[in-house]
Amino acid sequence: MSQNIKIKGKNPYDVLAFTLTQKCSAQCEICCFESSPTCTMSLDINRVREYINSASKLDYIKTIAFTGGEPFLIYNDLRELIKLASLSGKRVTTITNGYWASNNDLVIIKIKELKERGLNHLSISYDSYHSEYIDVNK
Ligand code: SF4
Repeated sequence: MSQNIKIKGKNPYDVLAFTLTQKCSAQCEICCFESSPTCTMSLDINRVREYINSASKLDYIKTIAFTGGEPFLIYNDLRELIKLASLSGKRVTTITNGYWASNNDLVIIKIKELKERGLNHLSISYDSYHSEYIDVNK
């Protein structure tokens, strides 16, 4: 990643987003990544670490985002990467369909863990397409 890029005015490209895995617990009809439980593609976590370290030197990158597929399927890696991204001085976000949130205690544990590691924003994806795969009543 070059450090010589000069961007005038407001930078529209201030988010560095990683699609950590294409694999997902769901298989929504509208999925733009064609994710599903059988997908096997994922990023090399060592390469992701390298990119985050490079991004730490780039002031115009304000946010690091971790997406999928379903990034909570690789929760231990996600947790570590959130900490690394936060230590790099960036705002850190992730997204989930919430498949893992099967009880309140688990939700509190995971949210606390991620917040302690520097997560700033968690998005939950849910609509009629997701509802085929995610039971919000359990
Ligand atoms: S939950 Fe999101 S990533 Fe997974 S299949 Fe649905 S739209 Fe795609």
